[in-house]
Amino acid sequence: MKYVFVVGGVISGVGKGVFTASLARVLKSRGLKVKVIKVDPYYNVDAGTMRPTEHGEVWVTWDGGETDQDLGTYERFLNQNTSYSDNITSGKVFLSMIEKERRGEFLGKTVDYHELLEEIYRAWEREEGDVTVVEIGGTIGDYNQLPFLHAAALTAHLHGRENVKFVLLVYLPKPGNLGEPKTKPAQMAVTMLRQAGIVPNLVVVRSEEEADSVRLGKIARTTYGIRHAISLPNVSPVYRVPLVLEEKKVAEYLGFPGEGNWEDWERRLSRIEDPDDSVEIAIVGKYVKSGNFTFPDAYVSIVESLIHAWAETGIKPEIKFVPAQEIGSLEAHGIIVPGGFGSTGVEGKIEAIQMARENEIPFLGLCYGMQLAVVEFSRNVLGLDAHTTEVDPDTPHPVIDFLPGQKEVLEVRGYGRSMRLGEYLANIREGTLAHRVYKGSEREREARELVNKVEEFRRGEVVEKLFIFERHRHRYEVNPRYVPKIQDGGGVFSGYHRGGIDLMEIFELPDHPFFVGTQFHPEFKSRFESPAPLFVEFLKASAH
Ligand code: GLN
Repeated sequence: MKYVFVVGGVISGVGKGVFTASLARVLKSRGLKVKVIKVDPYYNVDAGTMRPTEHGEVWVTWDGGETDQDLGTYERFLNQNTSYSDNITSGKVFLSMIEKERRGEFLGKTVDYHELLEEIYRAWEREEGDVTVVEIGGTIGDYNQLPFLHAAALTAHLHGRENVKFVLLVYLPKPGNLGEPKTKPAQMAVTMLRQAGIVPNLVVVRSEEEADSVRLGKIARTTYGIRHAISLPNVSPVYRVPLVLEEKKVAEYLGFPGEGNWEDWERRLSRIEDPDDSVEIAIVGKYVKSGNFTFPDAYVSIVESLIHAWAETGIKPEIKFVPAQEIGSLEAHGIIVPGGFGSTGVEGKIEAIQMARENEIPFLGLCYGMQLAVVEFSRNVLGLDAHTTEVDPDTPHPVIDFLPGQKEVLEVRGYGRSMRLGEYLANIREGTLAHRVYKGSEREREARELVNKVEEFRRGEVVEKLFIFERHRHRYEVNPRYVPKIQDGGGVFSGYHRGGIDLMEIFELPDHPFFVGTQFHPEFKSRFESPAPLFVEFLKASAH
């Protein structure tokens, strides 16, 4: 097994995630089996308990892990799944070590720093595949990060320098008053990395514009002058980065010669760079403020899914972020109501859904967006004083409710938490919009493959001819008591999960050009090379 470690210096946000994902994609293009791991040096066990303002959007892996969003970036570039264990945190490794100590597994020995390093090493040691790329989060100089750097140095010791490579990404600032890029912070970052026992094989210099040979030379010299420094200025869209890495021979520097086939990738990029059409898409959400800045960061996966659909269709989505607290006169070719929690902005979202329904504007409701579409329909079409019990526990018509029975079902299946997390099978009814969207898609093929593999586990769940797996992260459900009433009133539940109780997965309206709400999050399975079918069809419908 070979390893490539990616670390960042000078500032956070130098683009390590995109670089790591792009590098992994370049290695994959050489026919190598690549694994990608993200290390987050914080002491939380995982991102599940963190606010979006702390951490941006929480990513959900197929096996129900709530992780750093970099795993999402890897999946989008690599077109392959990551799992919960691919996100290593200080919290996880400390917990595992201390639990072992409590079980007496150290047999009376003193547990010291070296145990921690071995614990970390075991967490990223992979037996399968050809190469593991490990992105170590944080910035050189952070204390939290140090054990991971030491463990990386240990890995090089165990596997040999020829099998373990290091990349350092640094930021090259150009202070306005000087007008000249300054290399000292980058040089300091190299020095600090050396103090941890690591000499980088490659320094990637990130900046707004191309760094010249004078600056690159200065930085390269700090790695004893025999290593390489390359410049990686900002490029847009970020999906161009793998091609830039190819052009700059990054894989070769790290000992992976070869040549990839980028034809399909290039074709998708060219549809982005030269679109045939454009539409205005409103994302009506709750936007969180931090000081003077507003964060749309909680919706990265949705934005990326729209970009993937753009690359597929050549229809450019002009995205408008509309705060649900003040939707005003909402004008757009398509409306998305994303996932969310709590009561803030709920009435605004419901109003936006009503506008979409009444004015035949294509609508995509994701998780909370689907639940609120059911609330809106129950209120304005069925005339019920309806709500979700998440917002109003005493509502006379709890069309969305926490299902006590469901908890036991989840426990039996081993997801002993109150949130429904990760991938579940959804049956799709024939003759519906959802059926047209998913029929013949990559999702259908992949679901069949999975069911064939673990048949006895799935047998009770497959009911319809067409079924898919999509990812979940929610606590509430469409209340089964109201399903017949809603169907009688003209609403269609075109997707459902067969469990102890049937759970509604997709809600749609037949007499509308495109009105779909999903209890799952299709945005967690959208990839640059394999966009989410729902986003593709939503974009096409918006362009009509
Ligand atoms: N708040 C809703 C629930 O818990 C929806 C969650 C979401 O949108 N991810 O069910």
